[in-house]
Amino acid sequence: MPRFDKLLNPAFCANNVNSPCPNNTSKANKACSRCLLVVYCSEECQNEHWPTHEKDCKNIFTQESWKPHWHTADRVPTFRKESDPYEPNTNKGKISWWGSMPAVDLLKLDANEGQDAPPKLSILFAASHDIRNMVETIARLPDMYSGQCEMVMNGIHPEIFTQNIILVLVAFHFPPEEAAPIMIHLWYSALIPSSVLAALRAKILPLIHEVCVPADYEPYVPVYEMVCKKNKASLCIELPREEWHRLRKYLEVPPRLSATTAAENRHEVTLALSRKDEIHRFLYTQPRYWRVSSVKFRADGILLPFGCSREEFDTPNPLTYATAESEILRIENVLSLFGHLLKPKILNPKAMLLVLLVRDIEAMWTGESIDTELTRVAKYIPQAKSTSRNDADYLKSLLASTFFRDVTKLFDLYKKAAKFDALARYGLKIREKSTVVPHWPMRPGKHPAQQVFEILLASGATGLERYIEWERE
Ligand SMILES: [Zn+2]
Ligand SMILES: [Zn+2]
Repeated sequence: MPRFDKLLNPAFCANNVNSPCPNNTSKANKACSRCLLVVYCSEECQNEHWPTHEKDCKNIFTQESWKPHWHTADRVPTFRKESDPYEPNTNKGKISWWGSMPAVDLLKLDANEGQDAPPKLSILFAASHDIRNMVETIARLPDMYSGQCEMVMNGIHPEIFTQNIILVLVAFHFPPEEAAPIMIHLWYSALIPSSVLAALRAKILPLIHEVCVPADYEPYVPVYEMVCKKNKASLCIELPREEWHRLRKYLEVPPRLSATTAAENRHEVTLALSRKDEIHRFLYTQPRYWRVSSVKFRADGILLPFGCSREEFDTPNPLTYATAESEILRIENVLSLFGHLLKPKILNPKAMLLVLLVRDIEAMWTGESIDTELTRVAKYIPQAKSTSRNDADYLKSLLASTFFRDVTKLFDLYKKAAKFDALARYGLKIREKSTVVPHWPMRPGKHPAQQVFEILLASGATGLERYIEWERE
């Protein structure tokens, strides 16, 4: 079985590319005081590495005075719009399976059931492809809890759902210290070490094979299951026969796809010249040293600390070749399909259906409050010199203005537009007080600190993301 020494103990000392540093483990704790992007084990390593690091540390994006290209060239930026038929958006309708919001602990047991937690808890991840919420919920279960926690996850996109199956199989069949970094790289990184892929194939393919062989002889059984047990946990996967066969393909790198070709394909999207304005718009919302990290991740697609060696990451991650179109799951469908699964309040006062609205609230806004919002933005970012479309500072202020929008009013408008009154027929009502996640988790609050504001702006959120908790009357 391959070993993952380098994966588990990455060389943190950034002086590891040209002349590998002998102290390449946790001893590296002296950060470059200028950018804080890299750490070294000693002053010698820092000095030796400076000619290489200087290119990042003094990169043009780190300059306080850096502005997007369209701003300096004084031209109108071109952003791909979904509504513009002449500019097809290559991402249109594609699912962002990294998740667009921080992961949520769906139980928050301490704040809810606490000591009175029942012997069995049940959570359904309905039509969910974001496995991070499941991981977060399991990780936050209190050590004291000795009951059973049943989690059921289903999905409407087989391609994406397959990724989740591989990830839970990793969690079950690798020791935790190996499973965690493997899962992280399978989820986020475009390249993985070949030793990781070999280990995945060695451990997981035989398990899939065991299901596939009998399935081939019993073609009339609709669904086949795999059951695994580990310590007190058990895992049950049910899939139609053809999906089991397809699952094997997910552990194969597509033929003739080398790491170099994969990188070229990726760059056509992540660093496309035609997207330069979009990329610059994104970078301009970020603190200046973050920009270098963002560009590096766009270039190599590997989720590692900035200075860590990427040498071992030589194999395209087969899981990143899954694509799926997103389907709109309308709130009415969610409530009518899943509402009746909730226990009534009298039987379980904590039972709850959690829904996230990502874009719906934004769509309610008509523009009248912009002046008030921009006045509040001006406390955090210098006012733009002009209100021209070519002015990147004006655009940044507009992007930031959503954080100061009157969301109560917009939510009321949304409730009317989505006919919430009529939804009462499913016997559900909105819970006034949130119990697991704040209603508006990405709002900065009334008078946020500068740093809080900057982090939110750089996160790509709008502050208009709304969680709704429904309960059954
Ligand atoms: Zn060193
Ligand atoms: Zn530096």
